[in-house]
Amino acid sequence: MAANTSTKSLIKPSDATAWVSCIRRVWLDKHQATEFIIDSFNQLLIDRRLEHETAVLTKLENQYPVIKANSFDHTRALMQQGIPVIYQGRLLDEQEGLVGFPDFLIRHESGQYQPADAKLSLSEHKKSIQIQLGIYRRLLFNKLPAIVFLGDGRTATLGNEVDPLVDAFITGMKSLINAQQQPAARYSHSKCRICPYNNHCSQEFEAKEDLSLLYGIHGNTADHLAEFGISTITQLAMSKVESIPEVPYLKGNKRKYRAILQAKSFLTGKIFQLDNAMLPEGTWIHFDIEDNALTPARERHVYLWGFLVPTYTRENFEYVWTDDETSDYEGWEGFLQKIDHYRSQYSSLVLAHYSNHEKATIKQYAERYAMKDHPIVIWLLGDESPLFDIQKPILDCLILPLQGYGLKDICKHPNLVNFQWENKDSSSQWSVVQFSRFQSETNSIKKQKIKNTILGYNRDDVIATRQLEVWLKRLFS
Ligand code: SF4
Repeated sequence: MAANTSTKSLIKPSDATAWVSCIRRVWLDKHQATEFIIDSFNQLLIDRRLEHETAVLTKLENQYPVIKANSFDHTRALMQQGIPVIYQGRLLDEQEGLVGFPDFLIRHESGQYQPADAKLSLSEHKKSIQIQLGIYRRLLFNKLPAIVFLGDGRTATLGNEVDPLVDAFITGMKSLINAQQQPAARYSHSKCRICPYNNHCSQEFEAKEDLSLLYGIHGNTADHLAEFGISTITQLAMSKVESIPEVPYLKGNKRKYRAILQAKSFLTGKIFQLDNAMLPEGTWIHFDIEDNALTPARERHVYLWGFLVPTYTRENFEYVWTDDETSDYEGWEGFLQKIDHYRSQYSSLVLAHYSNHEKATIKQYAERYAMKDHPIVIWLLGDESPLFDIQKPILDCLILPLQGYGLKDICKHPNLVNFQWENKDSSSQWSVVQFSRFQSETNSIKKQKIKNTILGYNRDDVIATRQLEVWLKRLFS
């Protein structure tokens, strides 16, 4: 039987990712799908997943006869023949409106088939994975657990425990497919910025002055505030702390006061200072790392430890670089030596970084190499640590006209730090993509060129934190 699987009315396991993230996105996918270009980081993830799938396929081929399916009918025929492993099977339940393409169908000793997928994820407990594998089980009409070949080489199984989630997904998807109107939605800075429907939704959020556009106001909080008559940013900006009810994520006067100022800042562009931040005295060295989680062993590899030292010009950029994860330890040692050197050079050192990522990474590395007792590690993680998270005084003391308080949000804003990265497309994900290109490039000249672009990006990151330091000191002076 030929089936038209492109039809929007079918429920696909791949819909689960959008369904878990935003039900409006699912509705738009089904009713007003937009064309979008996969960005280079997501393409890298797709490529890595395919590599992982190929590695699993090779392993299975070494153990069993494997045949690739080329249609729904062919899949069914292969199952009837009892082929041990069917690669890229195609399953359809027209009555339920379900369609699925498991990477593998593996014949169980009972003669029935178990669905299996290769996933880059390290956990089988991710909702979207449970739903996807659960749908394959439905399509096979048996109770055998589904198999997940995880990114760290582990093999996990998912059985009847995922059924309630799968039921909720199918019911939710059916109602979305039948709905004539798009479901209500709230803004989410992390999700909407990278969503292909951002333009479509943003117009509505902005026209409505949706409260969720404000930093720190969750969609759920906005729903509750609306019940008490506070539906727009203007209404919140005009509210008194005492008149705001206790609602989820907005409990206590301090948070409510911040929310009111955030609304005012959004409307006027004004900066509000809640407190005078105490910035540490000493010689500041700005510090930022670039790391890659997509290593074969799935252990995060810091390929670049970057520093900006006095006198803070582009020429004062220093770094420790490693070409791949096999030199991970050498990179870590190089980092410790650099810190040791800075410590002896500057009597009062401030190692400034943005967010907790750098400190958390140092902890991970100390753990990984059993070096918690190393004198530099003790110093870095101890009470007299030179590490200083520059984001902390910003979050504690300032209300800024921003939807996110990331380094780039603050530094790129023309009315705030106004520092622009040389490469406008660069980001930490961009850096990971470039590093992957660096690793696969065989031409040494091209390889060096890629390395230089990554170094340039990291250098701009530390120059940005230096600019931020200067801006903050001026603000708090
Ligand atoms: S832009 Fe945001 S609200 Fe709109 S579909 Fe995408 S994630 Fe959902």
